[in-house]
Amino acid sequence: MFVDVLVNIKSLGEKIFTYSVSDDLKDIVRVGFRVIVPLLNREIEGLIIGIRDSVDFETKPIVSLLDSEPVFDDELLSLGKYMKDEYLCSLMSAYESMLPVALKFNKTKTSIKYETYITKVGDIDNPSVYEKNVLKLFDNGDVLKRDIKSKSTLNRLLDMGVLKEVKREKNRLCVNYERRELRKLTDKQLDAYNLLLNSKKSVCLLRGVTGSGKTEIYMHLIKDVISVGKTVIVLVPEITLTTQLIERFRSVFGSDIAVLHSALSSGEKYDEYRRIKDLKAKVVIGTRSAVFSPLTNIGLIVIDEEQEDSYKQENEPRYKTFDIALKRCEYNNAKLILGSATPTLESYAKAKIGRYELVELLDRVNNKKMPKVYVVDMKDEIKTGNSILSRVAIDLIEDRLRNKEQIMILINRRGYSNYIMCMGCGNVLKCPNCDISLTYHKTNNTLRCHYCGYATNNLKRCPSCLSTDLVLRGIGTEKIEEYLKDKFSSARVVRMDRDTTTNKGMHEKIVKDFNDFKYDILLGTQMISKGLDFVNVTLVIVLSGDASLNIPDYRSAEKTFDMLTQVSGRSGRGKKNGVSLIQTFNPNHYSIILSKNHDYFRFYNEEMKIRKKLNYPPFCLLVSVRILSKDFELGSKLINKINKYLKGNLDDTYTILGPTQSFKINNIYSFKLLIKYKNRTLLYKALNDIKSHHKSKDAKLEIDFSPLRV
Ligand code: ADP
Ligand code: ZN
Ligand code: ZN
Repeated sequence: MFVDVLVNIKSLGEKIFTYSVSDDLKDIVRVGFRVIVPLLNREIEGLIIGIRDSVDFETKPIVSLLDSEPVFDDELLSLGKYMKDEYLCSLMSAYESMLPVALKFNKTKTSIKYETYITKVGDIDNPSVYEKNVLKLFDNGDVLKRDIKSKSTLNRLLDMGVLKEVKREKNRLCVNYERRELRKLTDKQLDAYNLLLNSKKSVCLLRGVTGSGKTEIYMHLIKDVISVGKTVIVLVPEITLTTQLIERFRSVFGSDIAVLHSALSSGEKYDEYRRIKDLKAKVVIGTRSAVFSPLTNIGLIVIDEEQEDSYKQENEPRYKTFDIALKRCEYNNAKLILGSATPTLESYAKAKIGRYELVELLDRVNNKKMPKVYVVDMKDEIKTGNSILSRVAIDLIEDRLRNKEQIMILINRRGYSNYIMCMGCGNVLKCPNCDISLTYHKTNNTLRCHYCGYATNNLKRCPSCLSTDLVLRGIGTEKIEEYLKDKFSSARVVRMDRDTTTNKGMHEKIVKDFNDFKYDILLGTQMISKGLDFVNVTLVIVLSGDASLNIPDYRSAEKTFDMLTQVSGRSGRGKKNGVSLIQTFNPNHYSIILSKNHDYFRFYNEEMKIRKKLNYPPFCLLVSVRILSKDFELGSKLINKINKYLKGNLDDTYTILGPTQSFKINNIYSFKLLIKYKNRTLLYKALNDIKSHHKSKDAKLEIDFSPLRV
């Protein structure tokens, strides 16, 4: 017996080698096992991807198997091949993305954690008082060894064979939850539920305004699916947005739920992964990579807030979660549900032409009112000297504080001020590694680069002209926090941004404390704009409603509409009605006006006209080709060569934009071509050629389908 083993080492790249299998392993070995094999005088880890009976060349035997059963079944193995062809990534990177850190190839390992239990296996005649006391502990089953205090009696009973030690796997993820029943669906929810349940289409888009009860509908569908013995994956954007959602699921499904997300330690992730693989969990809730959960017999996959950027992986393999979910649904004959208040134009367009089943919920649960949205023109406010909070914002905050209602304030920048300007030479202080301005953080009195992490506390002199006349410009979360505490001295303010949530569990703590009304005002970055459900919040303020409009990206209006709709949707979710206030310098921009009117449909139509005129998705597809190098000359030479090759090998149905050079990050220059296309045949051939010819060790080639930033 011989096996084809996929390996990846730096000096050779990705390769497949054939090894023989010794007799004692023959009965166990199957495709999908991780193995240790000899290669170039070393032993390395690889994956068995093929088996054959004979070969006509010399082979070495495999050293050992790493697992007691395959880590991948046929479905996941073929999914890896699909990813390689679809995204032009390496096969190894595709398989690695499916594994928890503990099982990734050639990395340090997290092992299973055990606990020692004592179990009762016999009886004794005439036990002593001590023995009686110990044996009594076993009336309700096995006992943790460390919970038994009288060690000498324990040891005696162990020696006598009355008690026995057993090792059990410990699950490092401890969770507590209160159980509750599913809520009865309202009539409107029930209609939507029935449409989803009975749809013949494999993909359904559930568009429901914020607070329309989408999550409750998912839970009813999930209950149906698991009651017939099938499994479910629920995908959520970043976990920071969804701690409350996970709690809701746990309270209904209890230990049937496994969670997989980046806030878990690698040990916890590994334990959850094994619970999934051992079929102990039937419903997996997790972020992007949970789409690869080793479940079998999947009946339903839900992608909640499907428009979120976090569903796209930004390094190799650069996959779209939707593609993977769709593939898995096809394989398992399962249903895929996309949910959102503001779906991407691509998804809504497909739903409108009938490719997806479109199910809409246009009202909040029990006809609760949508929050009333006010737009404040900050150009007028600046004239009266209010640069941070408008007059009406201050009035509303005071009103809410008096009435013991809660407030959320969103600002898109963390840190104290956006940048520092030198009055001597007019320069903005920049990171020495990146073409990016440094942000001032008052908490630890440093200037920091948000791209590479560079930090300095040299704030005295301008590095170019040595002038000491430096001024802080722009505002960030830290400065707003200071301002709020000063202006509303009775208010209890909590700040949530990347700086206050670096420690494990901090995020959940802030959410919980705010929910328990330990604070009046929750101030934060985008992190607080989505998914949160606080019943006592009746005022939401967006401090710079147009910040995302100024990003040079064809989706900036869509992103702005989405963000404003989501953040407004946090207001008035409980019994009291809510308002939200958008402060902006562009009060007449269509994305702001239409989000104020909760008019997704008009926004969709307006934006589609623009996309069509400029030929952007959904009217075409995009792929970017990037060269990254520390060597400017080399990078620029290579990108021009690629450009020439593409021009010679693609016909006029393709549009090539660029090359463009973007700011350097961490001393690495990046050069980019953007290709618009409708048909993939010529494109994939050309890109494969480019990839196989790219040999330079000093420049990296990156191909990115559906890039997030163009
Ligand atoms: P969405 O996911 O669309 O934002 P949710 O499912 O979170 O909406 O529902 C919004 C609020 O309404 C939540 O507080 C939820 O508990 C409540 N809710 C949802 N469905 C029902 C129902 N059928 N009966 C009572 N309350 C409900
Ligand atoms: Zn200067
Ligand atoms: Zn930097």
